[in-house]
Amino acid sequence: MSASRSLETDVLVIGAGPGGYVAAIRLGQLGHDVTLVEKDAYGGACLNRGCIPSKALITASDLAERAKSAQQMGIDADVSTDFERMVEWKDEIVGRLTGGVEQLCRTNGVDLIDGRAAFVDESQVRIEGAGADAADRIRFGTAIIATGSRPMALPEFNFGEEFIMSSTDALAAAEIPDRMLTIGGGYIGMELSTVFAKLGCDVTVVEMLDSVLPTYEDDLSAVVRRRAEDLGVDFDFGTAATDWTEIKSGVLVTTETEDGDSAEYETDRVLVAIGREPVTDTLDLSNAGVDTTKRGFIDTDKNGRTEQENIYAIGDVAGDPLLAHAANKEGILAAQDIAGEPLDVGDWIVPEAVFTDPEIAAVGMTQSEAEEIGFEPVVGTMPFDASGRAMTLGETDGFVRIVASSDGGALLGAQIVGPDASELVAELTFAIKHRASLTDIAETIHVHPTLSEAVMEAAENAMGQAIHTTN
Ligand code: FAD
Repeated sequence: MSASRSLETDVLVIGAGPGGYVAAIRLGQLGHDVTLVEKDAYGGACLNRGCIPSKALITASDLAERAKSAQQMGIDADVSTDFERMVEWKDEIVGRLTGGVEQLCRTNGVDLIDGRAAFVDESQVRIEGAGADAADRIRFGTAIIATGSRPMALPEFNFGEEFIMSSTDALAAAEIPDRMLTIGGGYIGMELSTVFAKLGCDVTVVEMLDSVLPTYEDDLSAVVRRRAEDLGVDFDFGTAATDWTEIKSGVLVTTETEDGDSAEYETDRVLVAIGREPVTDTLDLSNAGVDTTKRGFIDTDKNGRTEQENIYAIGDVAGDPLLAHAANKEGILAAQDIAGEPLDVGDWIVPEAVFTDPEIAAVGMTQSEAEEIGFEPVVGTMPFDASGRAMTLGETDGFVRIVASSDGGALLGAQIVGPDASELVAELTFAIKHRASLTDIAETIHVHPTLSEAVMEAAENAMGQAIHTTN
C-alpha cells in the first residue's frame, strides 16, 4: 500500500473495514476528496479475520464431513483433509478480496495511507507508524471513525499465550488440535467449534448461560445444538471457565458453576469467544470531544453523526448490530449525509445469520416480541422435513417461521433454522422492508423444487392454506 502525501483532506475515514472502505468509496463516487487510513489490512476484521476466512473454513470442513457421511446417497468416500492446503485456499480468497478492496478504493479516487490515526483535536489526526514518505498529520473537514472491534479477552486467559486462542488465532491456526475447549457458545464460538469438530477435533463448549446461541429462540438453537452433539461436540452449560494451567499433556482448564461446583477439563487449545469490544481506546477521542459509552462504543444518530458535528462513527465501533452488512450500509448513510445527499432509508431492517450447521437466520420480530408491543400475531411454519428440495439435499433439520400481523397479514418477522437460511432470509427481509403481506408471499410463484418454497409455504401456513404441511 503506498501512502498519500496529502496533509489535508475533505473527509478522513479511519479504518478500512466494511464500514470504512464502503464510506470512502461512496464519498469518492460522490466526487469528494477522501483519505482512508488503515493501520493493518484492507477489509478489516470481516475480510481478514472474520466473515470471509470463517466461511471459507466452514465450507471446506462441511464438504469433507458431508462426503464422509454420504453413504445413504450411495457414496462411499475415503476422505482425507490437508489442513495446510485448506488454509492456503482460504488465504488466497482473503488475498483476492483485500486486494480488490484496495483496487476499488484507488479506482474511486480514495487516497490511501498506512498507519494508526489518533485525534489531535476535532479537525486533525496524527498518524503513527506511517511510512517515511507518508503524512504524519492530516487535517480534515469531516472524519468518519470506522475502527471496528476486536475479540474480548477473559481475565486469566490472555491472548498471546501459546495455548489460548482468540477467533483471530483460530482462523490463522496452522493445524487442527486433537482437543479444543471453547469458552462461549455464541455465534463465533459455535461456528468455529463446528469447523474444528468437522475436521476431527474433539471439542467441548463451556457456556455460562443454559443454551448455545442464547440470543435466538430455544427451538432454533436446539436444532444447532443437536447437530453439534451429533458431530461429537460436548457442552457444559451454566458454567464459567475460571483458570488454566499447563500440564504435560496440554492444558488443564478449571470451570465453576454458579453454585460453586468446579470441574477440570484437559485440552490442547482454548478458544475464547465471549464477544467483541469496540476499538476506541487508541484514538484519543477526548481530544476530538467525542465521548464513549461505558462499554466503549460511540453513540450516533441514524446517519452516524456523533455529538461532534464534523465527526461520524459507523460499523462495530458505533455499537449493535456488530455485523458487516450493517457496517456497509452505515458507511453509505454517513457518506451520503456528508455529501449533503442524505438517504431516507425508512425502517432499518437488519437481517442476521449464523453459519452453523444448520444455519440460523432471523429478521424483524419474534412472536413474543410482537406480542410485547401489542400485536396479536399469526405465525406460520414450514418444516424442512416436508420440503422436497431439503430431502434431495439430505438436509431436513429445521424450519421456516413467519410472524405476521393478524390484522392484514403484514409481515413482522421471520426465523429460519435449516439449509441456506442465510440466503432464504433475503426474501423475507425484502418483504418486511417493503411492507409486504402474507398474501404477497403466498401469491408469488417460487421455483420448484427449492428451499425458498418453504418460505412461501410458511406464509400459506400462517393463512391456514399450506398444501405440504398441516395447517
Ligand atoms: P472492522 O472490520 O473491525 O474494521 C476496522 C478497521 O479499522 C480494521 O481494519 C482496523 O485495523 C482499523 N483500525 C482500527 N483502529 C485504527 C486506527 N486508529 N487507525 C487506523 N486504522 C484503524 N459479520 C457478518 O455480518 N457476517 C458474518 O458472517 C460474520 N462473521 C464473523 C466471524 C468472525 C470470526 C468475526 C470475528 C466477525 C464476524 N463478523 C461477521 C463481524 C464482522 O466482521 C464485523 O461486524 C465487521 O467487520 C465490522 O466492520 P467495521 O468496518 O465496523 O470494522
